[in-house]
Amino acid sequence: MKVLVIGGGPAGMMAAYTAANNGHQVLLLEQNEKLGKKLFITGKGRCNLTNAGDRDSFFQNVPRNGRFLYSAYQGCTPQDVMDLIQAAGTPLKVERGNRVFPVSDKSSDIIRAWEKLLRRAGVTVQLNTAVESLLIKEGRVEGVAAGGKQILADAVVVATGGQSYASTGSTGDGYRFAKQAGHTLQEIRPSLVPLETVENWPFPLTGISLKNVTLTVKKKGKKVFSELGEMLFTHFGVSGPLVLSASALIADDPAGAELYIDFKPALDEATLDARLVRDLSENAKKQVGAALHALLPARLLSTVLALSGIDPSLAVGELTKKQRQGLVAVLKGARLTVKGARPLNEAIVTRGGVQVKEIQSSTMESKLVQGLYFAGEVLDIDAFTGGFNLQVAWSTGAAAGRSI
Ligand code: FAD
Repeated sequence: MKVLVIGGGPAGMMAAYTAANNGHQVLLLEQNEKLGKKLFITGKGRCNLTNAGDRDSFFQNVPRNGRFLYSAYQGCTPQDVMDLIQAAGTPLKVERGNRVFPVSDKSSDIIRAWEKLLRRAGVTVQLNTAVESLLIKEGRVEGVAAGGKQILADAVVVATGGQSYASTGSTGDGYRFAKQAGHTLQEIRPSLVPLETVENWPFPLTGISLKNVTLTVKKKGKKVFSELGEMLFTHFGVSGPLVLSASALIADDPAGAELYIDFKPALDEATLDARLVRDLSENAKKQVGAALHALLPARLLSTVLALSGIDPSLAVGELTKKQRQGLVAVLKGARLTVKGARPLNEAIVTRGGVQVKEIQSSTMESKLVQGLYFAGEVLDIDAFTGGFNLQVAWSTGAAAGRSI
């Protein structure tokens, strides 16, 4: 059969490779001048290509439509992906949290492995080719239109990605193709995204990165997230690993969510208060700001004191117990209110897309148009950080390629 794959990202490359290994004649169309432009920037250029945790942990890390993936996951597990990449000559390593990276720490090595795999499988790659529309006749896909020409095929895989970081090529064309085929789209929103805050006190703290803090997120008073880790302040609010993960839990309606930062999670309130009493009594002749200098980085300490209503130039002897307790409260739970998520273009992943109820979960084929398949982020599936989003792309790409 003649198979066309639209999009040379992870889902498209996996679909093309798998279909070609099943004996099909496969043409992979990519609008960029090279394959895997987004893959190149993943994992801060190191490419966290999958997660070596077990099946349960995988599904716990796919908050959106995870169940739809049961069959696709079974057909292409993280171990299958690791075996494939290693067999192509790229050694891998497993880091904290079961995150898998190339030993070289270079995403370009993963792309090189894929170029090799596609070549070996006999896939024809055509770059600089943007697909404009699908050719559909009487409920069957017949090919695509690209560059003013028609390219005919028996099966077409749409693996055009989501709509975040559009400069990598994921400009949302797949949503247009899905609509053309009669599919229903779930509203597009940013996920794994920095958050803007109503309060402006984080803004001057831009660049301060916090390690070992606990971030708790409440939505309408209900706790939806609480984890220990890293985060940072920015000129618009907050970002960093904890914030990105938390954003996935409020992605549908981020405004109004409450964030609480515990700057000292290892100490309970009483122990922290005792520590303050000690620091203050050891510096009884100083000003409060100087006496507590070891507590936090200087700029952050000034902000925390301001939030507690304490003038840093106040003499230690004049600090009241109530003021000290107020400081403990801020240190254990500085509160911020989410104004909104940063725009889609700054999101690691797009929430929403082609509704999965209109796709056969074991094959990724459209239930509406025969011979039409969808794989990867174009589908309404998204996961947490840790290599899970790429695994979604590999598994759904493989399912499409296998079932054609
Ligand atoms: P994409 O990778 O977006 O590929 C789609 C391809 O289709 C593109 O190359 C595009 O040019 C092409 N295309 C689109 N429209 C057309 C058209 N009309 N004609 C022809 N070609 C077209 N996930 C992880 O698991 N681990 C990570 O470490 C990680 N880090 C990330 C870091 C950043 C900064 C970002 C933005 C994302 C990261 N992700 C990570 C998420 C992950 O990269 C994506 O979920 C994944 O790339 C989706 O794969 P895809 O194949 O569906 O889409």
